[in-house]
Amino acid sequence: MQAFRTLSFAQEVIFAPGALARIGEAVERFGWRRLLLCTSNSQRVAGHVTTISSLLGERVVASYEHVQSHVPEAQVAEVLALALQHQVDAVLALGGGSPIGMAKAVSRAIEEEDSDSKTAHTAFPTEQPRIPVIAVPTTYAGSEMTAVYGVTRTIDGITRKITVSNPKIAPKLVIYDPLLTLQLPKTLTASSGINALAHSFEALYSLTRNPLSTAAALHSIQAIWHALPQCVADGTDIEARSEMLMGAYLAGHALATVTMALHHGICHVLGGSAGVAHGIANGIMLPHALRFNLDATATEIAQAAEAMGIARGTQSDAVLAEAIVQRIDDLIRKAELPRHLRDVGIAESDLPRLAQLAFESRTVQSNPKPITNSEQLTVLLQQAW
Ligand code: NAD
Repeated sequence: MQAFRTLSFAQEVIFAPGALARIGEAVERFGWRRLLLCTSNSQRVAGHVTTISSLLGERVVASYEHVQSHVPEAQVAEVLALALQHQVDAVLALGGGSPIGMAKAVSRAIEEEDSDSKTAHTAFPTEQPRIPVIAVPTTYAGSEMTAVYGVTRTIDGITRKITVSNPKIAPKLVIYDPLLTLQLPKTLTASSGINALAHSFEALYSLTRNPLSTAAALHSIQAIWHALPQCVADGTDIEARSEMLMGAYLAGHALATVTMALHHGICHVLGGSAGVAHGIANGIMLPHALRFNLDATATEIAQAAEAMGIARGTQSDAVLAEAIVQRIDDLIRKAELPRHLRDVGIAESDLPRLAQLAFESRTVQSNPKPITNSEQLTVLLQQAW
């Protein structure tokens, strides 16, 4: 059996269709009185901002409603200034991984302003930040369960997504309400759903996997495999939306306690340095990254066969893992997501630069199959191009 070390965060998770109605009671229990709402325009359009305002009333003392994808550093400064100006005691993120990442970045920045926390120590997992994050996710990206965020920063003319992790930024209250996902458009449903699937597969073969991350990953794959096609076909199916959101929760849980690998590292580069939407990057890269890793990870990938309805029979792990990757490829094709990097505005001549940036990433270097030079990644990106 593989040895492991794992971490848990103190989080309250409320999951139910209609759970958003319980936000007032939960916020009251935590004693938060001055909230900054951090979201994007789609939530105003969907009516969710109005609902939150009516549920929380005067507790929402400020709001920032135009968080952009990939959490640009300049926006972090704007939201931080708003949080300080209004002396908030929690940041409420409503939306996908971007508003949630923004809320974490602001929570962390406030922590750094606090002179006591400038000392470089690792936070105890249950230690509270000065300004905690409340997350109400509306996609399947899973950021609400993790203690990590990415911020996009330009240094020496190179723009890239930098990931920061600290146990204190794991959202302290997470409200999962499948009703908030009913208006999630087909492409975002499919692409953030594939992002969730990617969390679970990279958790299965992570170098730092543990028994709980594996159990959560396998259960999430089963839920996603069953529910995602139906959510894409009929976004108003509350049963399917609930199962899919539960799968995303478990995938986020699996992601939270392990080190990610090649696939996530490349998607961060495609997002931060080439502007590709995160879910779309996931849809393009996942089959290629899994295939690249097959010879080192077939046993771990093959564990998902049953969850995906593939009878094991007498087939070897290698054959099962190949069948799993093929089915994921088919799912992405049927969901009509972009399948090539050239379809999302990436020039072939840019691939070596992106490969080099990915090669320098800690996440890529944590891949179970060692990556020894950036040319390996250029070849991989060419396959996806
Ligand atoms: P996103 O938050 O960038 O949102 C994408 C688009 O979807 C936006 O235009 C948004 O307005 C819209 N949207 C969101 N919910 C909607 C809804 N219910 N109805 C209609 N439109 C809606 O995308 P995402 O895929 O959720 O998150 C991606 C970001 O999260 C990336 O920056 C990624 O790096 C990060 N992420 C972080 C983690 C982590 O653990 N830290 C995990 C996964 C993703």
